[in-house]
Amino acid sequence: MKKILVVGGGIAGSCLSYQLAKRNCVVTLMDSGTNVSTKVAGGVIIPLVFRRMTKSWRIDDFLPYAKSFYQQLEDGFDTTILYPMPLRRFFSSLQERNYWLTRQHSDEFSNYMSPISEEDESVFPYANKFGSGRVKECYRVDAESLLNALKIKSSFQLIQETVDYSQINAEKGSYKNEVYDCIVFCEGYQANDNPWFNYLPVDPTKGEVLTVKVDGLSETEVLNRKCSAAFVGNGAYKVGATYVWHTANTIITEEGKQELLDHLNCLTEHPATVVDQVAGIRPTTIDRRPLMGFHPEHNKLAVFNGLGAKGFLLAPLLSEEMSAYLLDNKVLDKECVLTRLKTTSAN
Ligand SMILES: Cc1cc2nc3c(=O)[nH]c(=O)nc-3n(C[C@H](O)[C@H](O)[C@H](O)COP(=O)(O)OP(=O)(O)OC[C@H]3O[C@@H](n4cnc5c(N)ncnc54)[C@H](O)[C@@H]3O)c2cc1C
Repeated sequence: MKKILVVGGGIAGSCLSYQLAKRNCVVTLMDSGTNVSTKVAGGVIIPLVFRRMTKSWRIDDFLPYAKSFYQQLEDGFDTTILYPMPLRRFFSSLQERNYWLTRQHSDEFSNYMSPISEEDESVFPYANKFGSGRVKECYRVDAESLLNALKIKSSFQLIQETVDYSQINAEKGSYKNEVYDCIVFCEGYQANDNPWFNYLPVDPTKGEVLTVKVDGLSETEVLNRKCSAAFVGNGAYKVGATYVWHTANTIITEEGKQELLDHLNCLTEHPATVVDQVAGIRPTTIDRRPLMGFHPEHNKLAVFNGLGAKGFLLAPLLSEEMSAYLLDNKVLDKECVLTRLKTTSAN
């Protein structure tokens, strides 16, 4: 029975702790309680990348796994975690529309695209002269319910504590003299403070989100073009998100607000009243792929990070792949391994 310390209780560390506990490991999850990504995120899962109208990376693997993972967590738990979320994409150009038209009936894309109908052509024509398409298989994950369910439904021990790196002995795999078979770091953007893994290119990408009251949007469909606007009840919509690379603060800004309000103009001509504004930080990587594996020199230390803007889609299956790597020496996806990177460890 392996004894494992997981550092960081966002979606990465919580899903990994759950998977390891399911495999009968004795898991301690330590979290500082200062989450700025999982708890801020909209938790939206969109299977397409709109710019070139391609499928999201490994979507045919990630999405079925994520759906069944979240649904299993809901069983016997009286809160919903996974909400189906119809989404309408307003095309940004004729080219984007043509990509859709050429793909909508193909076997590869028909699971994710509804063929454009006459009705689609007449929806919200305001400022959207290229029309729109309905994306299938979009979801929203309720982060708070998810983290609660993971805590309640699994047998890992959760401790609220900021792990003090100076108390870790990398050779022994110990923290405060408690010895573990492995310590796995899942600190999101705060990996940059980790003395063993700060060589990894985790780029803090700030994102701001508004809650607004506005007319002219849909209560039943999320509308997307430059931003997403999702109905959250009481006449309010969440509008997000901005992307500010290389920025590790959660200060809400006038620029962020204005950018989102400008983007909202693509979806409705009505003026919006801002009722809330929040900011968070995504742990992104240059090649948009996660960071997974053991430290190149310390075989008791490992990392699971770099989920970028897609943690809610990726974490369920990748946490299972990470646990199989840690427990069964199973090979990781070559796009996630640390050795793909040019950067080298300083420790
Ligand atoms: C504005 C915004 C909108 C987003 N929207 C979406 C979306 O719609 N869909 C989607 O899939 N993704 C979205 N994301 C991205 C998603 O939130 C991330 O992919 C995901 O949350 C990353 O999870 P994580 O567990 O790696 O990091 P985090 O959630 O940041 O968790 C890291 C945890 O580690 C803890 N920690 C750090 N250092 C220590 C330490 N020394 N000791 C103890 N604990 C420590 C922190 O307290 C934190 O709880 C969004 C992100 C932002 C900012």
